[in-house]
Amino acid sequence: MDFSPAVASLKPSATIAAATKAKELKASGVDVYEFTLGEPDFITPEHIREAAIEAMNSGKTHYTPAGGVIELKQAICEAALRDYNLSIKPENVIVSNGAKHSIHNVLTAMLHPGDEVLIPTPYWVSYSALVELAGGVPVLVTASEEEGFCPSIENIAAKTTDRTKMIMLNSPSNPTGVIYPLDLMRQIGEFAVEKNIYVLSDEIYDKLVYPGWETKCMLTMGDEIASRTIVINGVSKAYAMTGWRIGWTIGDPELIKAINKLQSQQTSNPCSISQYASIAALTGPQDCVSQMLGEFAKRRDYTLSRLREIPEISFVEPGGAFYAFFNVSKYFGKTLQGGVVVDNATDFCTALLEQAQVALVTGDAFGAPGFVRLSFATNIETLTVGLDRLARFLAG
Ligand code: PMP
Ligand code: GLU
Repeated sequence: MDFSPAVASLKPSATIAAATKAKELKASGVDVYEFTLGEPDFITPEHIREAAIEAMNSGKTHYTPAGGVIELKQAICEAALRDYNLSIKPENVIVSNGAKHSIHNVLTAMLHPGDEVLIPTPYWVSYSALVELAGGVPVLVTASEEEGFCPSIENIAAKTTDRTKMIMLNSPSNPTGVIYPLDLMRQIGEFAVEKNIYVLSDEIYDKLVYPGWETKCMLTMGDEIASRTIVINGVSKAYAMTGWRIGWTIGDPELIKAINKLQSQQTSNPCSISQYASIAALTGPQDCVSQMLGEFAKRRDYTLSRLREIPEISFVEPGGAFYAFFNVSKYFGKTLQGGVVVDNATDFCTALLEQAQVALVTGDAFGAPGFVRLSFATNIETLTVGLDRLARFLAG
């Protein structure tokens, strides 16, 4: 078939591909230990599920306004005030079918062909693909392990040209879990103001922050920075609602109107029932978030303690999200379990899956060769066996 250039050159999501491969192996009877997909293993909290049932039973089963019901927009504004002391209005908000869709819409609404978008590495797989899909050019800014995976202003400046339209930030980060220091966020914001570029701040993991770490919404960094900032968030990660597909964009009312127009032609509206469930998530009791975070913290500590026991693995401590992103390059060229020798992270993941039935995602997918990502959003028993197997695999 003759596909459009945009789709012909599009790569499938590497995280979803790795998860699919692991699930297929599992279905064929292989005992796979799966740490690929970044999604909470918890069921959505009960009061949120109840709100969805109530919405269905009371007939909230019709189309809604394209950008979401006003009650959800108000709930997003209330949550911004509660969580960040940030005052925004419903006209600053549009709800979409998951944060991935929100990002796609912002890029589609804002990019002209050939516009450059700065993306610090390691970056979430979909960023570069979505930029390209919207006609833009992803420009990677390397942030190394030695730099704690935080991009320096010098490196950002070195990649900035007169075609640069925007910089995408993600703190806490997928895949590293790294939280940018607030000073760095402010400096990046000031740089954006100076260069007249936009900041697209993906804050989907902002509620999954471990004790001792701190993050802030980019919109709280002062009026000038806020005027050039677009924030992405959603319910997927904080409320274990990945399947409900609700995400949102906070930004200038003109941008929100443009995305509303796009969405009205594209998907009509996000699922009505999920919207009412999301209102309950945002306005209901928040202890479910801290309970899940407490569980993630135990898994994080356990995973990191096990990784520390393995010689020649290194990592930057994740302050948020539920990923361990570690450097396995010292094992390249060495004999691993089953006599296997690899020289890159993608082959490393394939060999680990074949020899030890442990599924991780290659760092190559995140613009970070030599690294692999382990999602610890799974129970300690699975983590224990998986990490035992990883250690055995590395021991050769
Ligand atoms: N941004 C980041 C950094 C993510 O890891 C994800 C994971 N899915 C998303 C956005 C998209 O989330 P959603 O499920 O709401 O589309
Ligand atoms: N964001 C999650 C991940 O990185 C879910 C999969 C996806 O949307 O890519 O694994």
